[in-house]
Order: sequence, then C-alpha cells, then structure tokens
Amino acid sequence: MSEFLCSRYDNLEPYVPGEQPKDKQYIKLNANETSMLPSPNIMKVLKSSRMDRLGFYGDPDAIELRKALAERYDVDIDEVFVGNGSDAVLSVIFLAFFDDKEKIAFPDITYGFYRTFSKSFAIDAMEMPLKDDFTVDVDGYIESGRHIVLANPNAPTGYSIPVSEIERMLKSDSKRLVVIDEAYIDYDIENESCVPLIKKYKNLIVVHTMSKSRNLAGAHIGYCIADKALIEDLNGIKFAN
Ligand SMILES: *Cc1c(COP(=O)(O)O)cnc(C)c1O
Repeated sequence: MSEFLCSRYDNLEPYVPGEQPKDKQYIKLNANETSMLPSPNIMKVLKSSRMDRLGFYGDPDAIELRKALAERYDVDIDEVFVGNGSDAVLSVIFLAFFDDKEKIAFPDITYGFYRTFSKSFAIDAMEMPLKDDFTVDVDGYIESGRHIVLANPNAPTGYSIPVSEIERMLKSDSKRLVVIDEAYIDYDIENESCVPLIKKYKNLIVVHTMSKSRNLAGAHIGYCIADKALIEDLNGIKFAN
C-alpha cells in the first residue's frame, strides 16, 4: 500500500479474482467458463467486424445493443443500461443508490463483489445469514427496512427464490430498491426471470451478464433492466465527471 491511498480504504479487503491458469488447459467450472463456443451468430459478427475501426471509440450510449436487448426482453430502450460486464453495472448501481443512509442487505454467503463494493463506497451493508437450509430469509429482508441485493439463483449455493417471493419483497415497500442479479438465471429451469416485473414495479433492477450462459466472458458485457427513471439515474452516474 502506498502512503497516498485514501483512509476510507483502510479496512478494505480487495476482491481476489479466481486464479486464471495461463496454460489454458482447464475449463474453470467454478467461474462458469465453458469450452463451448458462443452462438454461431456471434462468431459470424465477430469475424465480419471491422478491425480497422479499433482505434475509434464505440457508441457511448450502446444504442444498437440496447435496442437489441429491448427487443429481446420486450421492454423499451430507455429501460436498458449496459456496462463493461455486470460487475461494472453493479458498481454503478451501488454508487448511484446506496450509501450510509440508503442501507442495504445481502446474504452472508453470496457473490463476493457486493461486499467489496459496499466497503469501497462506504455503504452501510448488513449481511443477512442464509437459513440453515441455505435458502434466503425473505421475511428477514422485508423486516430489515433496507434495500435488497440478491443473486438469484444465488452463488455459490445454487438456490433460487421464486418470483412470487421476490414480488413480496417488492410490494413490502415501494421505497425499497430490490436488485436481482440474474447471472445464473438461464441455468435454472424451474424459475422465471424477474425482467417482466419491471413494468409493474418501479423499485426493481434486474442485472444480467453475457459472461456465463452466453459463453462470452471475454467480451465482458453486462446490462440491467429497470424502470426508465432508474436507468436515467444510472446513465447520469456513468457519465458524471
Ligand atoms: C460472474 C458474475 C457476475 C459478473 O459477471 P461479469 O463477467 O462482470 O458480467 C455478477 N454477478 C454474479 C452473481 C456472477 O456470478
């Protein structure tokens, strides 16, 4: 550590990314990497991309991607926010909406970045213990009076919360934000995505990644879908300077 690092980071425990073997002999199942190629359509687009354009910035508003996502999920383009991986999307969400007054709760056993972001951004975060059977204590979250961040299905337990239970949290207080990180939703054949609920609840943000089920970890593309007022705030923070 240098003498210049801000004191707010005194207690920071940096997130330790999983080891990436350089010889690439292995598939990291614990990072949900895969040996399978992405969709042939993706390969076609990549092969036809204009390498001579690499010296130019892409569209900061990612209009084409947002349009395609909006069509795919039957939402409006101004209900879609994209970032460099869902980690970047989550970090803008945490920066925009949470602090020492806008307190949050997430499970004690879950995706490690929620803790890291909370510490980096001095967010008052409560780590709610999972129940003895590793499921999420929905009533505990409702009673906490805090905003809620949940990976659904959760990692590394693999357990899901049914959409009806997520609705119970959303309905419990319209002033409470509920962030549902659906990085693994495509692996869960029994439960549905919460994306359609964004039309009904203005306090819901659903976060997705292209890194896992879409086999595109190297592209690092993430996005979230929410009411357009929330998306407008996220764009405001993303482009704030
Ligand atoms: C992998 C993962 C992410 C981050 O994915 P990106 O590669 O940054 O898009 C976010 N949340 C969960 C729960 C994850 O497992």
